[in-house]
Amino acid sequence: MNCNRTAWVVLAVVLGPAFCAGDESASVPGGAVATLVEGGRATCSIVVAAPGAQRPAEELATYLLKISGASIPVVPAAAGVAGFRVVVGGRTAGDIEVDATTWEGMSRDGYVIRSSPSALLLTGKTELGMFYAVDAFLEKQCGVRWFMPGDLGEVVPKMDAVRIGRLDETGRPVFRMRWVGRGEWARRNRMNVGVGAEGEFKVKWFVHTFDSLLPPETYGAAHPEYYALVGGKRAAPKGKGDQVQLCTSNLEVIREVAANSIRLKDADPTLDMISVDPMDNLSFCECENCRALDEPGAETNNSLTRRLLIFYNAVAEIVGRKYPDLLLKSIAYLSYVAPPVDAKVRVSSNSVIQFCRFICHNHALTDPGCPYNREYNKYIQGWRQIAGNVAIYEYYYKCSWLELPWPIVHTLRTDIPYFQKLGMFGVATQYGANLGSNGLDYYVAAKLTWDPSLDVDALVADFCTRFYAGASAPMLEYYRTLEDAAVASGVHIARQRSYAEVVALFTLELLAKLDACLTRAESAAGGAASPADSATLRARLELVRTSLEYTEACAEYLRVLAALRKDEDAPWISAALAAQAAEVGAPHVERIRTILNRGKALGATGGPETSYMTRLLDPAGVLRNWDIPEIGFGEKGKSRQKKDWLAESGREPMAPPRPATFAVWLFGNDFDSDDVQSEHDVWLINTAGEKVKIGVLAPVGDAGDKADKCYVIGGLSAAEYPRDKLALVVTDAGGSWTVSTVFGVYVMPDEPGLTSVAATERLTRDLNSVRIASLGFIESADRGMDCGDAKELRLEIELAARPGE
Ligand SMILES: [Zn+2]
Ligand SMILES: [Zn+2]
Repeated sequence: MNCNRTAWVVLAVVLGPAFCAGDESASVPGGAVATLVEGGRATCSIVVAAPGAQRPAEELATYLLKISGASIPVVPAAAGVAGFRVVVGGRTAGDIEVDATTWEGMSRDGYVIRSSPSALLLTGKTELGMFYAVDAFLEKQCGVRWFMPGDLGEVVPKMDAVRIGRLDETGRPVFRMRWVGRGEWARRNRMNVGVGAEGEFKVKWFVHTFDSLLPPETYGAAHPEYYALVGGKRAAPKGKGDQVQLCTSNLEVIREVAANSIRLKDADPTLDMISVDPMDNLSFCECENCRALDEPGAETNNSLTRRLLIFYNAVAEIVGRKYPDLLLKSIAYLSYVAPPVDAKVRVSSNSVIQFCRFICHNHALTDPGCPYNREYNKYIQGWRQIAGNVAIYEYYYKCSWLELPWPIVHTLRTDIPYFQKLGMFGVATQYGANLGSNGLDYYVAAKLTWDPSLDVDALVADFCTRFYAGASAPMLEYYRTLEDAAVASGVHIARQRSYAEVVALFTLELLAKLDACLTRAESAAGGAASPADSATLRARLELVRTSLEYTEACAEYLRVLAALRKDEDAPWISAALAAQAAEVGAPHVERIRTILNRGKALGATGGPETSYMTRLLDPAGVLRNWDIPEIGFGEKGKSRQKKDWLAESGREPMAPPRPATFAVWLFGNDFDSDDVQSEHDVWLINTAGEKVKIGVLAPVGDAGDKADKCYVIGGLSAAEYPRDKLALVVTDAGGSWTVSTVFGVYVMPDEPGLTSVAATERLTRDLNSVRIASLGFIESADRGMDCGDAKELRLEIELAARPGE
């Protein structure tokens, strides 16, 4: 496992030398060639020299005014200008001329900065390119920073004079799509999606677009066959909220999706990419034609890949005939995150596969010691082999990490250069307005997405020095402490149910250290140069303080619940324990809500209303979901037999009476059925070694619906099965692409007429009496046993007494 301890000691200005005079820098290396401002007065004019240059020119004037107090005139190219000219746009300025090779070779989001004794040229081919030139100039030459969105996130040095040296810089993007945040903040840090400038990379819709491409309200009534067949029925969707998947093997569906994509481009010729993504669920079409496209030998993580690739390619081919340059983006996600088994399948050249890297962000993607990343790295390399355009969809904000600080700078520094090495098309990330918890991450991610070669230690040092000014040393220590603790903890962040990891990472010791750093930073804020500086610094620290307060509250709440969970002997949560958890958790829940509402108003954390937060704030739910394995990464949990339990609990071996008939009780979570089909079949191996089907899970009309439930299969003749060991197999019909959990299987004396409701009640009320009465049982000792997607769960139950004797 990598141990990249952070070493942020270099207090260098990483983003380039500061050429401006005044507070920022007293001297200009190589000597000043010109001044833009002297003694607080303008000594230059800003010339708008190309279409699209107006707003970038105004941005330059606005910031030079903020820096120096000097009001610099912004004039059209035709105007006669005496003195030094700052030219925005075009290929020439005075004696400066961008040569044809450079100009022709420049992408629409490249830029050029050049100076001579008579002029400064800030240019690009588009409004976006010109903005980049201006913003890069302000950042590198004048020390302006946009660390976080909004006024509070901006750092503008104050100077009487702005002098420049000889400048010659050509900015070239590494990734074609750069999507960290949106709006002005993102644009100023050289992102190009959703930044509101001509020349940006224009994407139609974010993700999960099947219901936008084929709106159910338009097609649903006339063409139910366009939508997924689930449980023997066409979905018959009515509107957007229905989240219905498409029948992707239907040729008319392919034609309509392609036609609607073409219409989008007709209506907006500036579109670069359209998202063609499934909805965010696994209710995919079960029709014969769709199933025929699935691959034998596929695992949970690529069971749907082939059918979707065939669909994407078919749509891309039609769209490509009219618009060869229009890209169609499709996500690799859930049961289609892994590339197809058949490595000969190719992805169209006008498609972009957006690989969703769900987990883990505490280890680098290339870290072979992380079981999640080991798989994901294999997948992403597999995609690169069959697709020309692979973008990454990242989780630099992840809902399942519950608004907590997300110390991932140590992985960003390795991962983003690795994406460059893989030749990836772009980097996009989930993003939230939780700047107290994630602000530094977004900034580092954006900076590396523009230039993966940046020195991350210097970048973080620059952030702390400028953003926290007099409090920079304790804040540098704050972030370093957090990163070091994450690395040392070895946890995988963030799983879908990350409760155990939260407790493991945010120990009392770590929280005390963070609190000490922040307290020192807060006292330093009092010593700022001016009341205004002091207020700004306090407001910035308040973002972090709120995030830390919430972290303390959340970790304490989870520690309290973990202690309750430890006392529970059953592999599930009993009703009594659930009630106790609700009572004990209530004041914690209240406190967390209050902090998060305040955090949301400040922009420090997200609010308490997302589905993940709602789950967190249900104490019994937290206990039930404490340690569920990630789908697609099911590890078999440890299990115990009746004899193990007897020994552990200090009981004598017991041999109950041996009945002629017996029953199997299966207790688990999320056994489903629909109107015609059950999710699983249950089998026993008889004395002849034959597999005999004894029942189904769940019986039609008696589905588990994500609840813990016990099912009884009775009337089994003891004489037909082996005496010492019962081999039980649970098979999965496939097609639901989800995983159920088995907590325990109990071999019981037969009780004709016993319902699943009664058995569930008995098991959850008094587990020990069931254990004692059983002829044998097997229980999961930790997470429950995975029972999923077209796979078999095989269990051997040792019988303490022999049925039939
Ligand atoms: Zn279908
Ligand atoms: Zn990991």
